[in-house]
Amino acid sequence: MLGRVTIQFFRFFQKVSPGDSYPEAPVEFPEPTIIIKEELEMVDPQKLELRVLATEDRLVHPEKSKEITCGICLGVLEDPMQCSNGHLFCAECIRVSIAQKEQCPQCRCRVTFDSLSRSLFVRQYISNLLIHCQYHYTATLDPDQTPQPDPEGCAAQVKLCDLEQHERVCEYSFTRCPFTYSNSHKDFHLVRKCKLETHQKECVLRPAICRYCEICIPFNTLLKHEQNCPRMPIVCDKCKLETFKGEIVTHIENDCEYQTIPCPFSAHGCPITVLRKDVNDHVAKNYVQHLLYLQKSHDHQLAQQRQKFERALEINHKEINHLRKQLQSKNNDTKFSVQWTIPGFLSKKMKYLQSDPFSFYGFNWFIGLYPFGDNRESGNYLSIYMFVDSKTLPKSKSITLDFTIKVVNQLTPSSSVVKQFHMTFPIQGQGQGWGDRKAISRDQITAESGFMLNNAVVLELDIQVLNVSWVL
Ligand SMILES: [Zn+2]
Ligand SMILES: [Zn+2]
Ligand SMILES: [Zn+2]
Ligand SMILES: [Zn+2]
Ligand SMILES: [Zn+2]
Ligand SMILES: [Zn+2]
Ligand SMILES: [Zn+2]
Repeated sequence: MLGRVTIQFFRFFQKVSPGDSYPEAPVEFPEPTIIIKEELEMVDPQKLELRVLATEDRLVHPEKSKEITCGICLGVLEDPMQCSNGHLFCAECIRVSIAQKEQCPQCRCRVTFDSLSRSLFVRQYISNLLIHCQYHYTATLDPDQTPQPDPEGCAAQVKLCDLEQHERVCEYSFTRCPFTYSNSHKDFHLVRKCKLETHQKECVLRPAICRYCEICIPFNTLLKHEQNCPRMPIVCDKCKLETFKGEIVTHIENDCEYQTIPCPFSAHGCPITVLRKDVNDHVAKNYVQHLLYLQKSHDHQLAQQRQKFERALEINHKEINHLRKQLQSKNNDTKFSVQWTIPGFLSKKMKYLQSDPFSFYGFNWFIGLYPFGDNRESGNYLSIYMFVDSKTLPKSKSITLDFTIKVVNQLTPSSSVVKQFHMTFPIQGQGQGWGDRKAISRDQITAESGFMLNNAVVLELDIQVLNVSWVL
């Protein structure tokens, strides 16, 4: 996981005493730019688990080691004890061995821990053995690697009894370079104490300051940073203005007087490009031409708007037609049939008979029958009309119909009297009904003719609605 952890990084700087080859960190640090690995622990070099060679591998005169080797662990004797026959073992090694079997592992004589004796001579001999301190060798944290003698390391030959004291203060012991902060082997600088000062002066991670923006960054990133530093002074090669690398693009785009730019009327058609410093001059000198460009471009825009508007209108028309068709298909009932049976026809002496009302498309209708005609001339005929109810007319709406008035021949339907009409209701200026004044003569209404059966006359109205429209 990567993140900005500048604070940790700078904490190291405070520990560093300023040297000659790197400048002191500024008191106020500029914007943090260093990205390092997060979750790093500060490593205490005391806790480093450096690989250390065994004592017998560090003897200055290894050939002497045979005489002082433990018969059990084969290492240099530690706190040597001997059996009655003089066989030597580390105190701890023989103690463990006796716990299992009370005999000397070499001569098999019977021993207990108490029967063993100390060997002062051997002890003295071992104490005076010369040994290389652990900082005579290269440092490694890798358990698979063996430290190697290092010509740069500690050259002291120390008596084994003084080793601990020596190693505690050895100038060649290892410490962590304060500019490294990772405990992963790769990023970690292990430096000998006596060489730390020199190392810090040369460390690739030592703090360095950009000479342009004064940001403090690791030395090994300085070069790249300086090459791209936004505060690097730069001269505009067009107008020779001194500016900074980070501002040159803005300068050229917005300010440079010697940058060639399109005329401000380019969007309206002026094809000229001029130096920025000459723009005003160009505009002033071509005043009329620019107005013409402007006019033309506005006309063009207007035409485009109109086209757009017309396209929208067309789409709307289509939509309306579509909806109209949908509406028509919904009002599929454009055909109506009404039958009116008039019983006891001959006994009716009234001048006018009216059917029950019926309705469709919001209009109310009825059939009107004048059994003795509706004027003097038609006295011998039945006058039959289809009426629209003028009292309940829907507002601003008209309906166009084909309709037939049929006087049904109840014996031979094919001989029925059929009158066909085409009319738009409400009828403009000619009353509310439409039909035939002389639909059928009264003489024909007989039982024999079939137009009257059981004294009943049957009228039928067949209507085909053609169109309904609203007048807005
Ligand atoms: Zn041993
Ligand atoms: Zn023995
Ligand atoms: Zn040493
Ligand atoms: Zn370093
Ligand atoms: Zn910089
Ligand atoms: Zn410039
Ligand atoms: Zn122009």
